Amino acid sequence: MRVLFAASEAYPLAKTGGLADVVGSLAAALGELDVETRIIMPGYPSALKHMQRARVKADFGDLFGFGPTTLLAGTMPNSPVGVYLVRNAELFERTGSPYADATGADWPDNARRFTLLCRVAAALATEHSPLNWHPDLVHAHDWQTALVPALLATRRGGRPPTVFSIHNVAFQGIFPASVFPELGLPQSAFSIDGVEFYGNVSLLKAGLAYADRLTTVSPTYAREIQEPRFGMGLDGVFAARSADLTGIVNGIDERLWDPTRDPHIPAHYSVEHLEGKRACKAALQQELGLREEATVPLIAMIGRMTEQKGQDLVLGIAPWLLARGVQLAVLGSGDRALESAFVTLAKDHRGSVATRIGYDEPLAHRLEAGADLFLMPSRFEPCGLNQMYSQRYGTPPIVHAVGGLADTVTDAGAQAIASGQASGFAFTEPTQEALLAAIMRTLTLLRNAQTWQRIQAAGMRRDFGWHRSAARYRRLYAELGGYRS
Ligand code: ADP
Repeated sequence: MRVLFAASEAYPLAKTGGLADVVGSLAAALGELDVETRIIMPGYPSALKHMQRARVKADFGDLFGFGPTTLLAGTMPNSPVGVYLVRNAELFERTGSPYADATGADWPDNARRFTLLCRVAAALATEHSPLNWHPDLVHAHDWQTALVPALLATRRGGRPPTVFSIHNVAFQGIFPASVFPELGLPQSAFSIDGVEFYGNVSLLKAGLAYADRLTTVSPTYAREIQEPRFGMGLDGVFAARSADLTGIVNGIDERLWDPTRDPHIPAHYSVEHLEGKRACKAALQQELGLREEATVPLIAMIGRMTEQKGQDLVLGIAPWLLARGVQLAVLGSGDRALESAFVTLAKDHRGSVATRIGYDEPLAHRLEAGADLFLMPSRFEPCGLNQMYSQRYGTPPIVHAVGGLADTVTDAGAQAIASGQASGFAFTEPTQEALLAAIMRTLTLLRNAQTWQRIQAAGMRRDFGWHRSAARYRRLYAELGGYRS
C-alpha cells in the first residue's frame, strides 16, 4: 500500500511542535508495516538543506498561479521515508518559522502558501500527476493540508480515499472570505457544510467536511472535541461526524528518546541501573546555575508558552514551590508576557529557578533526564509527547487529566501503586489549587524511595512505541478500500 502524507512540518526537516514528530515517526513506522509512506511538505530552507538525495521531479511553472513552482524528491535524513518538497522561493524560502516571521507574527500570505502545498499534493493523487508513484490513499495532517481532501472530493474523476488528522483543534486556519477564489474549490463549498465558518473561510473545516475518515491523536481528545468545552466552536461538526472519527494515541520515537543511549545526556541509565540519572541531575543543575543539591526536588517544564499549556498556573504557585525549596527548570517560547514572567522569576530566584527561552532539542533531552518530575498542566492536550518522554526517562509527569494526558499517564492512586501500574500524577481541574495539591501529593511520595522507584519503573517499562498505533492506522487505511470514482 502507498500512502501520501501531506503536512506542513516533519521532523527533522522542519519542526515547531508535536506535529513534526508524529509525521516523521509515523511515516517511518508505517514503512516497517509495509505501508510505503511518502511525505509532501513545503521546501523551507531547513528542509532544502537537510533532505537527502534531492532531485527535481517536476516543473509546474506557474500552473497554480502562485509563481514558479517545482517538485523535489528525496529522502529523510534519519529514515528511508521518501519526501517531496514543494519548491517556491517566494512563498517558502524565508527566514522564520513555517508559520510566522521572526517577531512571531503569522505570515500574511499563509492562506496562499498552504493552498499551494495542497494544490500540488492533490495533483499528485490524480491522473495528472507528473510522478509514476501513485498513492492508494492520501492522509492529510492539520489545517495547513486540510484542503487536500476537499480538492480531491470535489473534483471530477477518480481519486484515492482520504484521511484527515486533527492534531490540535486550536489551530483552524481561519482567513477572510476573500481567499476563497484561490482555494480551487467549487463555489458550493463556501457553505456551512463546507469551508464557511461565520462568514470566513476555515481551512480546518475543509478537512472535516470532505475527508472520508477523520482521526485525532488520542481517544479521550476524540470524545472531548465533540463537547463545547473542548471543540473550539467545531464541536457540532465533530459530533456530526462522530461515526467517522477515531482517536489513535501518538507513539514516540523510542530510538531518539532512550536514556540508555541518548547522545544528548551526560550519563546513560536504565530501569535496572538508575545511577546515571543522578549524574544527569547534577550536570543539569550545574548547567542551569541551580544549587547543586542531590535531594532537592527538581521540576522541569518544556513547551510552547501559551494559554493551552498552563504555564500561568505554575507562575501562580511559584511562591509556594520556592518556599518548599523546590527547583524549577523551564524551557520554551511563545507568549511574550509568559516568557518575561519566567525570565523575571529566574532572575529573582537564582539558584532555584532557571528559564531558557528558545527552542533547544538537546536541552529538552537533558531536562527530561535530569529532572525528578515533569510538569504538564495543559488546559487541553490532544495527545502530548513530553509526558511520554518523561515516563521513559524515569521522570514521572504531573498532568492535568485531559486528552492524551489522561490516556498515557496512570495516576499514582493507592490501588495503582499497589498493582505497579502508577506512572505519574493526574489532577482533574485546571486550577492553581488542584495543581498545588497534586504537587504536594507528589512530593510526599518522592520521599519514599521504594514507592518512587516503582512509579519510575512503571513509566520506564511502558511501551510508547509507534508499533501498535501504526497498525491501527494501517487497519483504518485498509477499511477505506480502493479508488473512488
Ligand atoms: P505541541 O505539539 O502542542 O507543542 P507536544 O507535547 O505534542 O506539544 O509536542 C511538543 C514537542 O516539541 C515535543 O517534542 C517537545 O519536546 C518539543 N518542544 C516544544 N518546545 C520546545 C523547546 N522550547 N525546546 C525543545 N523542544 C521543544
